Amino acid sequence: MPVPLLDLKIQYQTLKPEIDAALMRVAESQVSILGPEVDALERELEAYLGVKHAIGVSSGTDALLMAMMAYNIGPGDEVLMPSFSFFATAGCVSRVGATPVFVDVDPVSFNVDPELVRRAITPRTRAIIPVHLFGQAADIDAIVAIGKEHNIPVIEDAAQAIGTQTADGRRVGSIGEIGCFSFYPTKNLGALGDGGLVTTNDDDLNIRLRQIRNHGMEPRYYHKIMGGNFRLDAMQGAILRVKLPHLAGWHAGRRRNAALYTNLFREAGASVLLPTSVYAGTSVDSHIFNQYTIRSTRRDELRAHLQAQGIGAEIYYPVPFHRQECFHSLGLNDADFPVSNELAESVMSIPIYPELTEAQIGEVVETIVAFERTSAF
Ligand SMILES: *Cc1c(COP(=O)(O)O)cnc(C)c1O
Repeated sequence: MPVPLLDLKIQYQTLKPEIDAALMRVAESQVSILGPEVDALERELEAYLGVKHAIGVSSGTDALLMAMMAYNIGPGDEVLMPSFSFFATAGCVSRVGATPVFVDVDPVSFNVDPELVRRAITPRTRAIIPVHLFGQAADIDAIVAIGKEHNIPVIEDAAQAIGTQTADGRRVGSIGEIGCFSFYPTKNLGALGDGGLVTTNDDDLNIRLRQIRNHGMEPRYYHKIMGGNFRLDAMQGAILRVKLPHLAGWHAGRRRNAALYTNLFREAGASVLLPTSVYAGTSVDSHIFNQYTIRSTRRDELRAHLQAQGIGAEIYYPVPFHRQECFHSLGLNDADFPVSNELAESVMSIPIYPELTEAQIGEVVETIVAFERTSAF
């Protein structure tokens, strides 16, 4: 039985009448960019996330870039971030001419280590970008406390973590100065194309970010600050509005699947390392499992074996930032990032989407356990 890493067609089939109607509504209105659908989505996401302002934008990558532009970050400035994340976290910093400063991560949560963040601060540090990787909350309170101490804004990369909560129930992306989200189709709340969101509780930043979204224009054809075309399409807004009420159910499905995996792997005595929730035992969505990421010392063989059996598995991420060719000029020391290096060589994400059946999950576990037995782990 093939088990794909992700199957978005099932989700579309269950929502097809509503999504098709939403698309037709936009077509009939011929308001194709921003407009009432995006406005309504923004108000609905403000309520869901518990944040004062939500600004619909063109992608998660652009959300991060806009945050850099909102703080006028540029040449000579340093921005701290984990060395283990998706490229966009670092790319936004280099694109404005600033210097990304990589910090190693925690081996349990895969998220940035606050103590290493503290040690990496210099007089040139202008922002900290923690990432809530794979849907699990980073130690955001510790990082925000460090930011406050040094008067440095915290920009949360919550691209993989829409809805993720801290132990006391606050949603990530509503805690630092700015939150950045992605509606890329593989994220837990996905559009039918690119889309993203910027959030803030600060009224001045809200105004500034809305100007940046549309070429820094206010009023029309008067440009006070530098901006770009970072607008969200109405079609994406309309689709996301259909999906948002289902998000809690999808999160619950992913958590149920994660618990199933964890139990089955334990019962079988599997030797792969399992993801651990840092707030395990609490009832909040502290991990929305955008990915269920296991670790194996023989990861590449295991992945090839799964693929040969028709089971999807992907490596997020095979190369940490400090080893990327485009950052060679930063002259970084590989030995400063032991955890990121270890993760890059051992992590593998397996299917976790909410519509997976128990039989499919059982199949994935059995295939992995059989491989471990036959190849004498
Ligand atoms: C997906 C992602 C982004 C970028 O989002 P896009 O919408 O694809 O531009 C940024 N950071 C992280 C951690 C992501 O996973």
